[in-house]
Parts: sequence; C-alpha cells; structure tokens
Amino acid sequence: MQYDVVIGLEVHAELKTKTKCFCSCKNAYGSSPNSNCCPVCMGFPGALPILNKIAVEQTIRAGLALDCEINKTAIFERKNYFYPDLAKAYQISQFEKPICINGHLRVFDKDIPINRIHLEEDAGKLIHQGNISMIDYNRGGVPLIELVTDALKEPHIESAEEAIEFLTKLRQIYVYAGVADCEVEKGQMRADVNVSLRPKGSKEFGTKVEMKNIMGFKSVYRAIKYEIERQKDILDDGGKIVQETRRWDNDKGESYTLRTKENSEDYRYFPDPDLLAVNISDAEIAKIKENMPPLPKKLKEKYIKEYNLTEYDADVILAEKEISDFFNDCLKIYDKPKSLSNWIATEVLAKTKNREQVKVSAENFVWIVKAVDEGKVQRNAGKELLASIWGTDLIAEEEAKKKGIMSGLSDDVVEKILDKILIEKGEVVSQYKLEKDPKILNFLVGQVMKETRGKANAQEVMRKLKERVD
Ligand code: ADP
Ligand code: MG
Ligand code: ZN
Repeated sequence: MQYDVVIGLEVHAELKTKTKCFCSCKNAYGSSPNSNCCPVCMGFPGALPILNKIAVEQTIRAGLALDCEINKTAIFERKNYFYPDLAKAYQISQFEKPICINGHLRVFDKDIPINRIHLEEDAGKLIHQGNISMIDYNRGGVPLIELVTDALKEPHIESAEEAIEFLTKLRQIYVYAGVADCEVEKGQMRADVNVSLRPKGSKEFGTKVEMKNIMGFKSVYRAIKYEIERQKDILDDGGKIVQETRRWDNDKGESYTLRTKENSEDYRYFPDPDLLAVNISDAEIAKIKENMPPLPKKLKEKYIKEYNLTEYDADVILAEKEISDFFNDCLKIYDKPKSLSNWIATEVLAKTKNREQVKVSAENFVWIVKAVDEGKVQRNAGKELLASIWGTDLIAEEEAKKKGIMSGLSDDVVEKILDKILIEKGEVVSQYKLEKDPKILNFLVGQVMKETRGKANAQEVMRKLKERVD
C-alpha cells in the first residue's frame, strides 16, 4: 500500500547564557566534571531556584526569530520523573503556558507550523565506562529551549529530507539570532522525532512512534528512513503500530523499544510553587525585537539585491554565520562582493569544511583577492599564497614579495596576448590540431612568454592554451 508520512519534531537547544537557568553556576561546556554545581542544580533539599532573566530573553528572541506569539504570562511547571541524571527527580519545564507559541519556519516551499517553544533546564550527563556509570551534573540546570512542531496542522514535515532541512534552517536561525551555538557534536542541539504513517489520502492520523534524543543530523536522517520502512512493513502485513518510544542505535543502524506509551499525564505536571509566573511586557518584547541581529532571510535579500550575488552564492555564504561574518568584514575593506564571494565560496570553504574556523585575517585575504583582481598576482599563485599563509601569522603582501609572484600579469592581459598569438600563428595551430605534437604547444607558449616579456606564468599559459586548442 501507499502511505503518507507525518513527522513531528521536538528540538532541544542549549541557550547561550553565562550562567545556568535557576542558579548562578557557570553555563560552560568542557569543564572538569561536577565543577559547575551548587545546591540548587544538585537538588539539595531547601535550595531555591532563581530564574535567569537572560534565559527568558533568549527564549523570547528565539520565538521572535520564528514568528511566534509571546505569551504575556508564562509559567514554570515541574515534570516529575526519576532518572539518575536528574537530581531533583523533577525537571523544571513549561507545560500549559510556555513562553512562545504558534510560530513557523519555512522549509523548502512549506511554512512548517511550530506549536511552541518553552524554556526548561537540562539534565546532567551519564558517562558509561564498562560496568560503571558516572554522572556529571555540570549540564544539569543549563537553560534549554524545546521547540515542538505541530504535525497535526498543515503543512507538515513528510520526509527525512524535509526534517533535515528543518533542523538545518533552525540551527542557522538560532546561531544568527545569537540564541544558541547549536554545536551538534557537543550535544547542544538534540532532536526527538515522531513518525506516523497513514494510507495515502486518508485524513485520520496514524499511531506515532517517538525516537528520543538523536544526536547529529545524519543520525536523524537514518532513524527516520528506518522508522518509515519499519512501520510500512508492519502495516503491509496487516499489523498495528504500537505507540512507543524507541531508541535509535546509530552504530547498528536500527532502533529498539525503550518504553511503550508514555503520556504527559504520566509526568504529573504542576506549577512549580518555588517560582513566580513570568510577566512579559510589550516594552520588553519590543526591545528584544529592536536588538535582534540580522537573520539569514534578511541578509539573503541584501546579498542578492545590494551585492548582486546569485541566490546560490548567497546561500553558500550564509550557510555558516562565521563565513557570512567574514564576508562582511572583508566587504568593509574591499567593496567587491562578487570577487569576495567567489573566493570565499571556493577557497575559504574548501579550507573550513567540518566547521573549522576561518584562519586568515580579512586584511590578508582581501590583499590577495585585490592583487588578483588588479592583475598583480596570478589567480593560481594567489590561491597558493592563501594556502601558505592560512593558519599562520604571515602577511600576504610580504609573502607575495618573498615568493616573487608579484610580477605576474592579469588574466585579461594574458588572454589577450594569447588571442593575438593564436591568430598570428594560425597555421601552426592547424598543424597542431592534425599532429597533436606537444612540441608545437611548447613553441606557442614560448611565443606568449616572449610577448609578455616573461611576466606570465608559463604553466598557466599552457593550461589556457590547451583549453583553447583541444
Ligand atoms: P508527546 O506528549 O508524546 O510528546 P506531543 O503531543 O507533545 O506528544 O507531540 C510530540 C510531537 O509529535 C509533536 O511534534 C506533534 O506534532 C507530533 N505528533 C503528534 N501526533 C503525531 C502523529 N500522529 N504523527 C506524527 N507526529 C505526531
Ligand atoms: Mg514528547
Ligand atoms: Zn548551580
């Protein structure tokens, strides 16, 4: 049978704040275990939480960036369950009245509805070593926002591809808004995936299965593909889907049952008597809106309209905020967006794959791009120069002089001279086309070099020449 797939995402992101959500412990990654803890985040009896105002502001900022409505009154509730990484045996979260509701995020051509974004505290981290499990509470109490899409509203996410695009766009918006770093490898962004199938065209929703806490977009992609196939097989065999939570095992490439049926009632949510309701004024919202950093959508318009970049180039530059920031830093000193974006899209991105940092200063980079634009350095020599100063303290101009690559002619000039020689030596060219004798090519390169008084790069001339005659 043919099925329609319905996918709902619950995405957790750790907020960028100096301190934790309800105490003044540091919100830092990579500290030595249990060094950023206090009685509040360790759940000592009698310790009282104090809400971090910046965490609330960050949540509002996330909501505004995703076209959410902001609730004027938000409430913190206790979500009760026991697990060793949760010292209090309840998590402070939000249930009835989250900070943000009713947003949407554009994915391909669909505005995917967002049900809510709420603020809660993260749990500690369990570390398993052989037969021993250890707990690091440093992460316990770190402010976390959970975004929940509304799969029961149209349009919904229907494929693994759309889910990944949603997560990619979401990450991009959080990073640009300055809400969260979302470094997936550090567990700063994690997704739960809900999947159900229903017969094609049917209006009634199928039973959903949830896969919890999947790390990494590739794993999310594989987990969804796997789950769709698993449910298809069951339904095709006339079976029924059991509502359950499954754990995705990325190494094995399969999932297994964690627990069946778990509903919000099971958590016995109730308003936390230790925390007051949060009142959010229009003035506060307006202020956060005013200070919102430029988001990808707006920057994209600018890059296309003002800088004449193609849509593709704009997307390439915008994919990572660090790259876009670098582009803007370069633009401040060299007003040639096309040249800069070309160089960044090819040379810089090749060197910064896997989210490595940009390891050249805007000044040095611009010097190279400009020197090539002005014909002072050949393009290939410029690329080599960039590679040789990458990650060092070397200065582009000094290196170019040292390497003696600054006598070169611009591409345009070389092309013109090449044109001229090809016409003048038309007979020789015809002869080459018949005989394919490499010596003839050497002769032609020699002619070009003579004309440029040795200033061109002979290899480069040979490459261009071959392009023309072959
Ligand atoms: P739970 O209480 O089990 O976490 P929620 O109602 O909070 O369930 O929904 C979690 C996510 O699952 C949301 O994104 C929601 O839109 C989505 N969802 C709900 N029903 C379905 C369904 N039948 N198929 C796919 N996703 C669903
Ligand atoms: Mg859930
Ligand atoms: Zn603490």
